[in-house]
Amino acid sequence: MVDGSSKLELRKLAKYFGDVRAVDGIDLKIATGESVVLLGPSGCGKTTTLRSVAGFIQPDGGEILLDGNVIATDTNMLPPEKRNLGMVFQNYAVWPHRTVFQNVSYALVIKKRPKQEISDRVYRALELVQLSGLQDRYPGELSGGQQQRVALARAIVAEPAMLLLDEPLSNLDAGLREEMRFELKELQERIEMTTLYVTHDQEEALVLADRIVVMSNGKIEQVAAPTDIYLRPATQFVADFVGINNIIEGKVEDTDQTGGRVRVSQEYGDPFWASGPKDVVAGLSKGAGVSVSVRPEAIRVNGAAEDDNPSINARVKASAFLGNRFDLRLDIKGREFRCQVPQMDFGDEVNVNINPELAWVIA
Ligand code: ATP
Repeated sequence: MVDGSSKLELRKLAKYFGDVRAVDGIDLKIATGESVVLLGPSGCGKTTTLRSVAGFIQPDGGEILLDGNVIATDTNMLPPEKRNLGMVFQNYAVWPHRTVFQNVSYALVIKKRPKQEISDRVYRALELVQLSGLQDRYPGELSGGQQQRVALARAIVAEPAMLLLDEPLSNLDAGLREEMRFELKELQERIEMTTLYVTHDQEEALVLADRIVVMSNGKIEQVAAPTDIYLRPATQFVADFVGINNIIEGKVEDTDQTGGRVRVSQEYGDPFWASGPKDVVAGLSKGAGVSVSVRPEAIRVNGAAEDDNPSINARVKASAFLGNRFDLRLDIKGREFRCQVPQMDFGDEVNVNINPELAWVIA
């Protein structure tokens, strides 16, 4: 459950390595109980941000607040062990020569908690990650997915203020990774723990996040719910990085301010309507250049015209069967467009039209 108060707050957080602005003045608030995923390509600053929160890296600028208290600035640092954070890192493996129980109980033993309390809490954590009964095994006697659950149990056993995860599933094979995504999501919801998660895998981010933070070059491109990141990208970077996209460049022909819509003239056919953020639409004047993000789902093949958008002639260049749908590559006036259809009940020449609700004007 997400409540209104901020568990974690980054204020103008900055970290530089020589000339590299690894984290370049980012602001972010994470509510109690919220699951936030940092998503972006390699080198965009995700891990540096997470490690700054964990306390392994001191910022060069800005502040980090946990539960309203400043825990890091460029001059002051609360050490990692005093931050009360649970961590699961890709390289933060479980100890091979300790049993599951010994691995999971470690944080409580260090804190010198009474024996009974330690065992109660360890069994509870193992139950939460669905490892009940395996407390006496050694990691070598567990599957990769089970080992990662041990790491999770170890991270949550001391009831940390927050859970930090850095690519925790990247060493698992594809099938297991997919399964673990859902398990992690369920666990996060069950224990209502505030979570900050780093990944470069967009599907993982879409499944796990209440909100996704898309980063590029040390800066935040967009912070939004997964559906908004996918359907309403704020920048061309987000549109390109998340999912398949067709970007159409055009010019403003007309605007409908109340509906938040723009009529765009472009080279592939008659002008079509697209949607956009109301403030962006309000700022557009006739003749201005715009980019429109058109997801594969926004393109309808041989259907009834969507709203008042015109049909465009296209040729099917290639198709691939993906099990539950077909992936099509269309040629429209020499340019390739990607779209997906449930059935291939048409020939090479088709008419397509663009759903005005799903075509999104990028600022
Ligand atoms: P990846 O997905 O590959 O882990 P990332 O988004 O997590 O990438 P960071 O690891 O945060 O990116 O790195 C951000 C930038 O800072 C990169 O250009 C990286 O080379 C640089 N960087 C990170 N750590 C150091 C360091 N200790 N010394 C020098 N440069 C560093």
